[in-house]
Amino acid sequence: MPPPRCWRPCAATCPARRSTPRPPARTPPTAPAAGRRASRSRSSTPHTPSTSRQPCGTPTTCGYRSYRAGREPGCPEGRARARGSVVLDLSRMNRVLELSPEEQIAVVEPGVITAELDRTAGEFGLRYAPDPASAAISTIGGNIATNAGGLRCAKYGVTRDALLGLDAVLADGTLVRTGRRTVKGVTGYDLTGLLTGSEGTLGVITSATLRLRPVPEETVTVAAYFTTFAEGAEAVSALTAARVEPAMAELLDGPVLGAVDDAQGTALRSRGGALLLLQCDGRGAAAEADAAVRCLRGHATSVEVTGDPAEADRLLAARRLALPSLERLGRVLIEDIAVPRSRLAAAVRE
Ligand SMILES: Cc1cc2nc3c(=O)[nH]c(=O)nc-3n(C[C@H](O)[C@H](O)[C@H](O)COP(=O)(O)OP(=O)(O)OC[C@H]3O[C@@H](n4cnc5c(N)ncnc54)[C@H](O)[C@@H]3O)c2cc1C
Repeated sequence: MPPPRCWRPCAATCPARRSTPRPPARTPPTAPAAGRRASRSRSSTPHTPSTSRQPCGTPTTCGYRSYRAGREPGCPEGRARARGSVVLDLSRMNRVLELSPEEQIAVVEPGVITAELDRTAGEFGLRYAPDPASAAISTIGGNIATNAGGLRCAKYGVTRDALLGLDAVLADGTLVRTGRRTVKGVTGYDLTGLLTGSEGTLGVITSATLRLRPVPEETVTVAAYFTTFAEGAEAVSALTAARVEPAMAELLDGPVLGAVDDAQGTALRSRGGALLLLQCDGRGAAAEADAAVRCLRGHATSVEVTGDPAEADRLLAARRLALPSLERLGRVLIEDIAVPRSRLAAAVRE
């Protein structure tokens, strides 16, 4: 088989990671001989494997957490480090192993920071479509383990939709490879999907084959303010009824806008009681955004439209900074609810 078109060494792809201070190096566990299972010692000492085989040398149990240098990870379920649990620090497994512009795929280790993969793909006119608001600090391994959504999921889906295949180490030390490298792959059980969102309970993800997409030729961002959150929700239902299909649709309520204002010194709350952020991309972006604006005019108190990337980033900052801003006010508990699009306004009223 010919070598992939584009191999990129870690040094070229992860400069920020190289300069990140790391915890004191610990002796990595020894990989077991092929065909043998890992020993089952129990320890709370963090292990810092740097290759796919090294997690085999540590016992993996349900409920392990991964830690990275520099921050306490945002464990969604807030699970504490239990006594006797195994802690794996995967920050050293942070290489983009392969990036193929022709196949539009990347093979990465789990400690790669989400935004860094997107930046690296951008050098080839590609992007990693899932865009969780935590992209600047979250890892691909964590995104997969939580099946993270993201701002662009309205059009591009969640992490699972960008994932083609995985390498993982199971609890008994067995290495498994699941999935494919091609866009189509319909035979057999969907073990990649099973591992996705399993929050580390089924195994340690040691590498992932991810689908990349071309950076859209055109992107238009729309920001609309409403007097109340319910009016914003009604506008979203109206967009759905009008068959407008944005890549992103994020509706923020008054308390969130107030928290962002307090933390960031903005004045969003003075503009209204809710903010709807839309982004349309691709060749028909301008026409799609026009249709959205026509639809919103009857509901919103003001509407802004921009095709300027810097201005778009400024508008989207309100959404990206929402959680850190709320966290300044105390411990935040997030509950996801899912409702049919047509019932969104009714769900908000209830
Ligand atoms: C500021 C902020 C914004 C966010 N925005 C969004 C958003 O827009 N959309 C969204 O869906 N979510 C969002 N989240 C939640 C987000 O999805 C998760 O925090 C993130 O994907 C987890 O990645 P992480 O690297 O921080 O993982 P960690 O917090 O380190 O780990 C999360 C879980 O994954 C497991 N895990 C980690 N690595 C592996 C591995 N290699 N193999 C097996 N299991 C592993 C851990 O054991 C743990 O159970 C946000 C979180 C924060 C803090």
